[in-house]
Amino acid sequence: MNMSGASPKGTPELSVVVPVYNEADNLEALVARLVPVLERIVASHEILFIDDGSSDDSMARLREIHARDPRCRAVSFSRNFGKEIAIAAGLDHARGQAVVIIDADLQHPPEVIETFVARWREGYKNVYGTRIDRNADSPLRRMLTRRFYSLFESFGETGLPNGAGDFRLLDRQAVEALKSMGERARFSKGLYAWIGFKSIGVPFEVAERHSGTTKFSYGKLTRFALDGLMSFSTLPLKVWTYIGLAVSAFSLLAAFYYILQTIFHGIDVPGYASLIVSIMFFAGVQMLSLGILGEYIGRIFAEVKRRPLYLVAERLEDKASVAPVNPTPVTRVSA
Ligand code: UDP
Ligand code: MG
Repeated sequence: MNMSGASPKGTPELSVVVPVYNEADNLEALVARLVPVLERIVASHEILFIDDGSSDDSMARLREIHARDPRCRAVSFSRNFGKEIAIAAGLDHARGQAVVIIDADLQHPPEVIETFVARWREGYKNVYGTRIDRNADSPLRRMLTRRFYSLFESFGETGLPNGAGDFRLLDRQAVEALKSMGERARFSKGLYAWIGFKSIGVPFEVAERHSGTTKFSYGKLTRFALDGLMSFSTLPLKVWTYIGLAVSAFSLLAAFYYILQTIFHGIDVPGYASLIVSIMFFAGVQMLSLGILGEYIGRIFAEVKRRPLYLVAERLEDKASVAPVNPTPVTRVSA
């Protein structure tokens, strides 16, 4: 790490990665607030926008911003790949000694970066923002988020610091560690925790969105939650052994009971209703467990295809700098 602030030639001290999906009306405001902060606290910086296949004017705005200030670069995806992948691309392309990840909608106050950098200079390599409140989200979403975190806490094989999200600073060493993980189903909150390194939380207050609405529907969030649980836990797979054992033990007991019943009371009226109910119940249990197997196999399938994580359609950067190529499937380029 670089304590003095001077960076090796050509590489900025700090990179700021911003995932962008239809945020045209937020970009100017973000740059206007971010640049003064960065100029005050670090010797040199770059702001790297990852346009995640926006369909609005985001790219046009980024072109204007880049023309005015070449320290603002951009990489544009060929389609929407999702925020997690946009962040992975940001880490691939960032050149700074440390990388800050921040949302484009100004919900993450840029001023907090000053504290991030101070902690980094103290030697922390993974400085994460912890949200003080989630008032900016709907009550239903807040409730579901809490449920998810407690589920992850009890199921996952990696703990997640409470309230920690994507707003954070990562030292170059942590960035390289994250880049070395070639997973397709990216659940970065889990990955950040998994890599370890000296970490510390910095509380910050979540602001209202500057403009526009959230890009995460409940459908997208459910997918995301499933990805998170499945890529960090094998418990859903194992639990079926126990459920199966319990169900079989129970059916043995039931069989015993019916034998006694037949011996002492003779054959009853044929139990049509109870038969149908138990058939449906066990068919349901079987389908559920097959479904869970399917989820994992689907993920294995996605991983073994080894497709690139994302495709770049366009880049906005100064000609002099070297442009990293699309990530190769197996080992992604590390400079
Ligand atoms: N985002 C993205 N790709 C997506 C969805 C969102 O790059 O498919 C970006 C979005 O532009 C924003 C950040 O991820 O910069 C957080 O998204 P949003 O504010 O919609 O999420 P929320 O704050 O509601 O969690
Ligand atoms: Mg937001």
